[in-house]
Amino acid sequence: MSPALKIYNTLTRSKEFFEPIDCRNVRIYVCGPTVYDYAHIGNARPIIVFDLLFRLLRHLYGDRHVKYVRNITDVDDKINARAAERGVTIRELTEKTNQIFQEDVKALGCLDPTVQPRATEHIAQMIQLIERLISAGHAYAADQHVLFNVPSMPGYGQLSRRSLDEMLAGARIDVAPYKRGDMDFVLWKPSHPSEPGWDSPWGRGRPGWHIECSAMSWAHLGEIFDIHGGGIDLIFPHHENEIAQSCCAFDREIMAHYWMHNGFLQVEGEKMSKSLGNFVTIHELLHSEFFGGRAWSGAILRLAMLRTHYRQPIDWTVKALEDAAKVYNDWMRAMDGVTPSKPTEEFIIALSDDLNFAKAEAHLHILKRSDPAALAACLEFMGFDSHKSSSHDQSDEAQLAKIGLTKSDLEQLIVERIEARLAKNWPESDRIRDQLESLGVSRL
Ligand SMILES: [Zn+2]
Repeated sequence: MSPALKIYNTLTRSKEFFEPIDCRNVRIYVCGPTVYDYAHIGNARPIIVFDLLFRLLRHLYGDRHVKYVRNITDVDDKINARAAERGVTIRELTEKTNQIFQEDVKALGCLDPTVQPRATEHIAQMIQLIERLISAGHAYAADQHVLFNVPSMPGYGQLSRRSLDEMLAGARIDVAPYKRGDMDFVLWKPSHPSEPGWDSPWGRGRPGWHIECSAMSWAHLGEIFDIHGGGIDLIFPHHENEIAQSCCAFDREIMAHYWMHNGFLQVEGEKMSKSLGNFVTIHELLHSEFFGGRAWSGAILRLAMLRTHYRQPIDWTVKALEDAAKVYNDWMRAMDGVTPSKPTEEFIIALSDDLNFAKAEAHLHILKRSDPAALAACLEFMGFDSHKSSSHDQSDEAQLAKIGLTKSDLEQLIVERIEARLAKNWPESDRIRDQLESLGVSRL
């Protein structure tokens, strides 16, 4: 018998026993990246946290019975602006950025979600949803825009539990003559000929951000599903608006039963921002010496992230990474030459308590001495590759030099492999993978 899973539900502000709608089809949706720039370490937090939850759900319900959807937002005004700035096409920018994102999250030990839908491939569903909302009286077209009519939904605000005044203050309201109410938000807007656009009943245009997630979760998980996750900063207005759209379009009380949110991330005690110079990307942490004077392995980044409970704010510091590296290397040493057995019951019970990593880690420290094979299995369970030795922690130029390669040769091989995969040239991709593996690079 599996231990019962408890999760903290933002909707009810309490820890609840998780009961899926259908235990043979457990469904979870997490808001994914907008692909216009390197993902920063704050973006990595929900990716790692919900990957751990995905692994736990697969353990509890069976690999084939969990469907995890994490979208890719590939139409957005930030993307348009960045592509214009760089003089590249939108497609080039989104493809390249997505490719780097996929490599980053793989290095962090994350499994691929079951589906990674792209917004641009779900425009038809967005238009359908908007049409439903208009015909039900929850949205209106005005001046080539379509807006959601917030006062038409009596329960608006149920997730964030904010007062109307607070919501008005938090939503950074754009005043526009075509809006009936201050809180009304955009479902569809017109596109200039130079901007990406799709034909719709309201003219050539593009979707607002919120409708993208309602359409993609509907397309892949249905009208109601189990868990919706994301960062705490998405509660309002994004998730509130997703709920408004989906509940009103389907005439339902609920969009998802459980809403889970990870806490904020700051860097060395300060809010991360480009102007403060403490903006840290996943890519830089993995591949440069920008943070703490060294490159960090994905496993150490993952461990450092998980060591703060997912709902607490996390302070991302060099010290915390060094501590995580020490713990990780200790575990690796204890498991040297050991074949993983099975994760222990205590470990699963700890994680099943709203992903209580501190409790799980305390147990791992005991296993380190008493049962290294179980320790290896627990680490593998959480996405740490226990077969890798700690010498792989750093992309070590000295090591490469020994086999007559430079870092840029290696990067070239990695790029060639990605290109071969994109071209679906599997023999070539496998050949490069083998070559990379013979060089000790197995993270691809
Ligand atoms: Zn979303």
